[in-house]
Amino acid sequence: MNDSQPVAAAEVPSVVGRYRVIPLIREGAMSNEHSAVADASVQQQLKLPGTLVEDWHDRAIARLGELVASRRGLRVFLDTCTKCGACTDKCHYFLGTHDARNMPVARQDLLRSVYRRYFTFAGRFFPWLVGARKLDKALLQDWYNYFHQCSECRRCTVFCPKGIDTSEVTMAGREILASVGLGQQYSQEIITKVNSIGNNLGMKAPALAHVLESLEEDILEETGVPVRLPLDDPDADMLVVTPSADFFAEPHVDGLIGYAKVLHQSGIRWTFSSAASEAANFALFTGQHDHMRDIALRIRNAAVELNVSRLVIGECGHAWRVAYSFLDALVGPMNFLEAAHPRAQHICELTHELLESGVIRLDAERNRGKVVTYHDSCNVARGAGMGNIKGGQFTIPRELLVASVPQVIDMSRDTTHQRTFCCGGGGGLLTDDLMNVRIKGALPRAQALREVVTSHQVTHLVAICAICKTQLSAVLPHHDLANVQVTSLHQLVGDALLLDGNKANT
Ligand code: SF4
Ligand code: SF4
Repeated sequence: MNDSQPVAAAEVPSVVGRYRVIPLIREGAMSNEHSAVADASVQQQLKLPGTLVEDWHDRAIARLGELVASRRGLRVFLDTCTKCGACTDKCHYFLGTHDARNMPVARQDLLRSVYRRYFTFAGRFFPWLVGARKLDKALLQDWYNYFHQCSECRRCTVFCPKGIDTSEVTMAGREILASVGLGQQYSQEIITKVNSIGNNLGMKAPALAHVLESLEEDILEETGVPVRLPLDDPDADMLVVTPSADFFAEPHVDGLIGYAKVLHQSGIRWTFSSAASEAANFALFTGQHDHMRDIALRIRNAAVELNVSRLVIGECGHAWRVAYSFLDALVGPMNFLEAAHPRAQHICELTHELLESGVIRLDAERNRGKVVTYHDSCNVARGAGMGNIKGGQFTIPRELLVASVPQVIDMSRDTTHQRTFCCGGGGGLLTDDLMNVRIKGALPRAQALREVVTSHQVTHLVAICAICKTQLSAVLPHHDLANVQVTSLHQLVGDALLLDGNKANT
């Protein structure tokens, strides 16, 4: 890890050794890594320029000016860095790639240097003194490449004495890029699908209904209990909105089955919505607040349309951040929700409540033989709370695991809770174009996992985020950890649940 040789594009960094060792720098190691630029048709559907506009320089500077004027936090983040260096070795992409521009402070400086040049007195008149730069094509390309090598995980922020949030800088950078015609295909296309069809996958209502019916048959065959997965039930009291990956991807779908079993046992009348069959909100990643509001509004409208009084969000990290931290500001007030549950709840919070009140019972012996560890997803750990309990986003999932599995082992404390390492695929990076970045970015998580696999023979890595589950399933084999099964938390809950057949929705 400390040699000074460049890493070949396809080379996987070794998980042997501790991530705490600060790597030697390999200048420009990732300068050619980038994801595809959005097609003109995708950009235009989002009312953005289809290709790079001729006057991109002036428009980019004007947009930067608007953003620093309207987002006070952004301006503070650009003004207050003291170059103390505390963040430099805290980013998983720097640790995995050794590229200096993946240091959080260097990533910020891509934007900060331009901000100084055009919007500060010192930068205008003495640019060489304050590291101010004009925006040129080469720098614009660096913006595109390196703002898409940040998963907006905010781990660096935890260590910054000024509280500078690099993810806000990344979001602003991406927002400006999209505004001059350089959106990212992966995220922008997903936003068009969720707007037009209701979910990221473009799965239409009949296909979704068919999937849910098939799952009901599978559960009946497995358990003998007629557990339902209702869609657009007009008599439901609760709307459940989950990432669409839960409907078909592995291991996500086993978590969906777990939600259904818990909800069946609770006796609550609940439903999915075909109009809002997606909890994810990729506009959080692209930094486009108007798109974020539109996507959130779908959920509010579906809840009002179905006349439900409770709203629950499934296992999706950034969806939970949006629901917990921004929903009221985006589309509130949510005054149709019942007084006892006046805001969206996380599915873990609901299951925990049901467990605490004795409505459901779990038998951990049903998961005997499994040794599990828990991966705190960034957007849950650092972007939200859970259950009106201080630190509930850390304790609630762990308490559910302890109730569901005989052996639960935490990874090293400096890689969990608020200091958790990103899976490497968040923030709009979960595209094959960026597989090299994703594999290298997963290095610190893989190293911490390796420690508990070696010390405690951990067999399962549990997550409550659809992106984490997809990413970790894809990259762990590259780190020689293919034998660890990535698992939905609600799969283990569902397997431990004592289920009977005489409940509502049946
Ligand atoms: S990926 Fe996370 S740790 Fe790295 S710069 Fe972005 S927000 Fe900071
Ligand atoms: S820790 Fe904060 S203040 Fe220090 S270099 Fe990083 S961003 Fe700047």
